[in-house]
Amino acid sequence: MQIDLHTHSNASDGTQRPAEVIVSAQAAGLDVVALTDHDTTSGWDEAAAAARRVGIAFVPGIEISCAHRGISIHLLGYLHDPADAALLAEVTRSRSARETRAQRMVELLGAAVPLTYEEVLAQTQPGTTIGRPHIADALVSKGIVATREQAFADYLYAGSPYHVSHYAPEPVRAVELVVAAGGVATMAHPFAHVRGRVVDDQVIEEMAAAGLGGLEAHHRDHDAEAEQHALDLAGRLGLFVTGSSDYHGAGKPNRLGEHTTTPEVLAQIEALATGTAVVRP
Ligand code: AMP
Ligand code: FE
Ligand code: FE
Ligand code: ZN
Repeated sequence: MQIDLHTHSNASDGTQRPAEVIVSAQAAGLDVVALTDHDTTSGWDEAAAAARRVGIAFVPGIEISCAHRGISIHLLGYLHDPADAALLAEVTRSRSARETRAQRMVELLGAAVPLTYEEVLAQTQPGTTIGRPHIADALVSKGIVATREQAFADYLYAGSPYHVSHYAPEPVRAVELVVAAGGVATMAHPFAHVRGRVVDDQVIEEMAAAGLGGLEAHHRDHDAEAEQHALDLAGRLGLFVTGSSDYHGAGKPNRLGEHTTTPEVLAQIEALATGTAVVRP
């Protein structure tokens, strides 16, 4: 049973349509796949229909951008009610802050490279959650850099003179919102130092007290030490452990199923959730 609980479509910063992610998941030999786009559930319906068609199970999810004292945190939510007003209001606020932030980053980048906001928008679909990867794609499309990775290394990294942060909720609040919406909250890549600063265990303890269910211990952005730290902390706090690819289509080297989650943990997530159901073929 191959279960991958973290992927992105072009509803956020993946490069494939939601249905294409599902087709790729089936082709990669997955039995169960979640779609967890940044701050949106707009890909769920297309993904669910595709999963029924190709005969694999689909777990509706989301990856909520959070921030604590300037540190970026990603919270995965599974099987919540997508119409929950409080959660919807929070991610809608983040999504619109992301637009203002992308415009501001393009303005700052203007000192170094010729780039317009329209060229960034051309890398998105209507309704896409806009992010730095779309600025990266515009830079690639203009031939200024060769890859998304190079765009991040040269221009878009946190701390670059062109980087701007955006509004995002506190992680404890996001956990409370996911739980109140009938979902199950899991902290994505909690100790991924390669992405920037990570939070102290104490913040994760507070998230656990607010109802956090699990930690994504197995992820390519974790070295052996980070993975062990996540396993130890999960054991101490009574949290379940997941492993996932964080697939972004052609936008990242991450391969579907490169890390997986056990059927026991999926069963635990399903048993806790009341917001929406896993779509089974
Ligand atoms: P944002 O949410 O707009 O701050 O952008 C963060 C997103 O950029 C993450 O979800 C990743 O998908 C992507 N990302 C971060 N670092 C890199 C990198 N070095 N190369 C490619 N994509 C990256
Ligand atoms: Fe992403
Ligand atoms: Fe993430
Ligand atoms: Zn992700």
